[in-house]
Amino acid sequence: MTTTPTKEGSAAVQARRVLVLNSGSSSVKYQLLDMNDRSRLAIGLVERIGEETSRLLHTPLTGGDAETRERTGRIADHAAALKAAAEELAADGLGLDSPELAAIGHRVVHGGLRFTRPTVITDEVLTEIERLVPVAPLHNPANITGIRTAQALRPDLPQVAVFDTAFHTTMPEYAARYAIDVETADAHRIRRYGFHGTSHAYVSRKAAELLGRTPEEVNVIVLHLGNGASASAVAAGRCVETSMGLTPLEGLVMGTRSGDIDPAVTFHLKRVAGMSTDEIDVLLNKKSGLLGLCGDNDMREIRRRIDEGDERAALAFDIYVHRLKKYIGAYSAVLGRVDAVVFTAGVGENSAPVREAAIAGLEELGLVVDAGLNAVRSGEPRLISPNYARVAVAVVPTDEELEIADQTFALVGRAESAGQEVPVGEVDN
Ligand code: AMP
Repeated sequence: MTTTPTKEGSAAVQARRVLVLNSGSSSVKYQLLDMNDRSRLAIGLVERIGEETSRLLHTPLTGGDAETRERTGRIADHAAALKAAAEELAADGLGLDSPELAAIGHRVVHGGLRFTRPTVITDEVLTEIERLVPVAPLHNPANITGIRTAQALRPDLPQVAVFDTAFHTTMPEYAARYAIDVETADAHRIRRYGFHGTSHAYVSRKAAELLGRTPEEVNVIVLHLGNGASASAVAAGRCVETSMGLTPLEGLVMGTRSGDIDPAVTFHLKRVAGMSTDEIDVLLNKKSGLLGLCGDNDMREIRRRIDEGDERAALAFDIYVHRLKKYIGAYSAVLGRVDAVVFTAGVGENSAPVREAAIAGLEELGLVVDAGLNAVRSGEPRLISPNYARVAVAVVPTDEELEIADQTFALVGRAESAGQEVPVGEVDN
């Protein structure tokens, strides 16, 4: 680990803190972690960047009571957002100029085929992330802005990119290719990449731990059900199939995305409804899924409406669950043997009715949910299947920030403990 002189220049300190940044188009989420015990020192969010109503929420976690501080008023851009976050951290004695900060880990949505592992960011790496903007126009530009801003703030520090697509690069070619003309596909880098990889990696590993086995010993289906949602089939620790594709639009029904759809629907909307490509993009990504079906994308609200007898909400729920079931069945076939089906993210961790409905009727696949265990609310990984079930059903809270911090710290720490320069480009993890 880096041993750096303190400001006083006397005793040496070990750099064992990692700042995790998740930069969206109009928001930045951040967490500062102490890698001695992998605890959070502070978490925060800057939202509505560039608007008059920007807001920063900052919660220091070092004291007893975690009290959130709020700043409101226009925060012009990502640089101003990070500066404001840095000021809040400094006010808690956690300034980003501290020699204890070892690295900054960035969530980067699209790493294409090139980035299969966490990667120390160089100019060349940044150029490659930029080259991927056409396949991730909504996400990569914001990630790049976040990286440049952080580099300007601490040019001396290693900055590491952790890619949402990386975990899925082990998918076999027959799962990753669309059945379209190969030349056209290759010319435009059209293939299935998958997303939420950091979560699928973390949750599948945790699920193996919950079963008392190593990741290599188990086959797991992970259902990441947040506002965005994706499924993955993980065989012996390696992703072999996932539901998102070229973009996060494919697959499960999501909060506002349609998931799987006949591609001819898009031609039809163009030819018959006269919609533009951009309008169709917005329709399928922002106005579809649960929101498009019933006007709400929050599962809590949908359940409340169902309890009041609302038929549109009930149908939206049924469509959502039906798609999930199809994926559980398909991935059982892909894996051959399944050891666990694991629910995670906002809906997966919190909605007992979704878990119950998705598993109902799958006894022939060895899947059963115990109603009592399913009703328990907990932030811990847990089994919700009865002891006799052939396949475990589990809830494992995801923690993408911790996974990014772990991967960042491992990459930076391994090189330094070996007495080497922090490596550039791709490094084994
Ligand atoms: P995420 O993207 O993982 O933050 O998940 C956000 C989604 O989780 C929300 O849009 C809700 O649909 C869902 N969610 C969060 N809390 C609950 C809850 N207690 N019960 C049901 N769904 C929830």
